[in-house]
Amino acid sequence: MTGPAPESTLPYPPIHKDKKFVVLSDWDGTITTFDSNDHLTDNLGYGKVKRREGNMSVLSGKETFRDSFRGMLESVNENGHTFEQCKETLRRDIKLDSGFKEFYAWCKSNDVPVIIVSSGMAPLIRAVLSNLVGDEAANEIEIIANDVAVHPDGKWEIKFRHPSSGFGHDKSQAILPYRDLADPPTLFFFGDGVSDISAAKHADLLFVKQKDDGENDLAAYCTREGIKHVLFKDFSNALPVVQSVVQGKKTLAEVLA
Ligand SMILES: [Mg+2]
Repeated sequence: MTGPAPESTLPYPPIHKDKKFVVLSDWDGTITTFDSNDHLTDNLGYGKVKRREGNMSVLSGKETFRDSFRGMLESVNENGHTFEQCKETLRRDIKLDSGFKEFYAWCKSNDVPVIIVSSGMAPLIRAVLSNLVGDEAANEIEIIANDVAVHPDGKWEIKFRHPSSGFGHDKSQAILPYRDLADPPTLFFFGDGVSDISAAKHADLLFVKQKDDGENDLAAYCTREGIKHVLFKDFSNALPVVQSVVQGKKTLAEVLA
């Protein structure tokens, strides 16, 4: 069910009206091997045990993603870590999915836009991305995310794109405008966790990442809600599936069967 669109406090890039296929992907834990906000919370904030309790309360509907996530980041800020320290920690520790560079290169050369749709903060994503793929690719990849407000005293807080939504950033709003096009592209969405719940049922083909750390919250959600999806371990196993659809060798129904 979709209600009225929540008001966005941040701009969107123009939608890709003339494309046949568009990839939208979560950043944390999907394009990266580990969620950067979880990493900050586990190591600089209130810790993993409390963070997983929060994830579970979001998954069971007891708490909104927005409020749980804000609490995670506040615990990092309250422990005295500046935003610059967070950026440096993530540039040091966060790694790219081993198949993403090749996946991105293939999409680029086949006229398939790749857009990052994240509940994280855009400046952290750009900082990590430029470290991992270089400035050129980092600057050309579109990012639809939340932002940050850094205050003169060094305190910082997340600025949600959709403050009135329980998702903070309602990722379905990056997908739904495509539905109104006369000739909409086929939309692939890639995700892994509770931040992707808002997008899960709106993609034409949903890819859910399976991770070795056992934090497979989006897979649990999709199984419970009966949302069809394709599991993938890294982008090198997702690429042939995307290629088969883009090249017309398989239909979406065949891929999802
Ligand atoms: Mg994620």
